[in-house]
Amino acid sequence: MIDFLFPPRCPGCGRPIPSSSVTGNPSSATGAARSCSRRSLCGRIASIPPAICPLCAASLPRTRYELNPDNPVALRLASLTPFHRAHSHFFYTPDSLLAALIHDFKYRFHPSTARYLGALMASDLAPHGYFADIDAILPIPIHWTRRLRRGYSQTRHLASGILSTLLTTSAVPTPAFPTSPASTPAVPIISDALRAIRPHRTQTALTPAGRLQNTRSIFRLDRRLLLDALPSPSDTPHLLLLDDVCTTGATVASAAEAVLDAIPGACLTILTLATPG
Ligand SMILES: [Zn+2]
Repeated sequence: MIDFLFPPRCPGCGRPIPSSSVTGNPSSATGAARSCSRRSLCGRIASIPPAICPLCAASLPRTRYELNPDNPVALRLASLTPFHRAHSHFFYTPDSLLAALIHDFKYRFHPSTARYLGALMASDLAPHGYFADIDAILPIPIHWTRRLRRGYSQTRHLASGILSTLLTTSAVPTPAFPTSPASTPAVPIISDALRAIRPHRTQTALTPAGRLQNTRSIFRLDRRLLLDALPSPSDTPHLLLLDDVCTTGATVASAAEAVLDAIPGACLTILTLATPG
């Protein structure tokens, strides 16, 4: 009712965010879809309250790195850890809308913004079959002391957003319309197997070498917990390692090291929401 009378304003452009999509009812997302040039996107993420209007969502700067296996993020990570593929999905600059949204979910207790951005990212990637061969999503955790201060793990909420998109894009195949690459089955989020075993200082003010030192051996993976959580038994699971921001890649590389130490046969796809651009 409050949203109907006083619809939230988009922090990007100041326009009201369509109330029909804020209610979270996918069948009533027509208001958002009508004002949005990317109809299918609006429809798919309608179950998550949007943090911004559809026009600003469509204009967030995509890296398109998923189309290029040798993208700059992958090349940066290649010197730190083995992986199958890696990319960051958006560019951000210090004063950009995306930077403000990231700040919201990291420091202003807006977990729904993380879910929204996860859903937005997945709605770009899922139609191309990006998640088709992933066995599980593994959000990179923060240490419990930081989670206590923040109130949640933001990567867990990013993963929830991804899963929300996968669930709404997963069509049940019929004999006449067999599963296509764009029809992606939902994958489990395994959020308790990978743990940050010691706190590390915030990375913001550190040099690249300092970041590597700061994040060395800070994660540990419980192999049994992870393998038991997989939908089907495998010693060589394909895991989506998920983080919010990739700058030097030090945190992601440390998490990947922990996974591969515990499960040497694991195949890693590394996905981060954003990278400086
Ligand atoms: Zn806007």
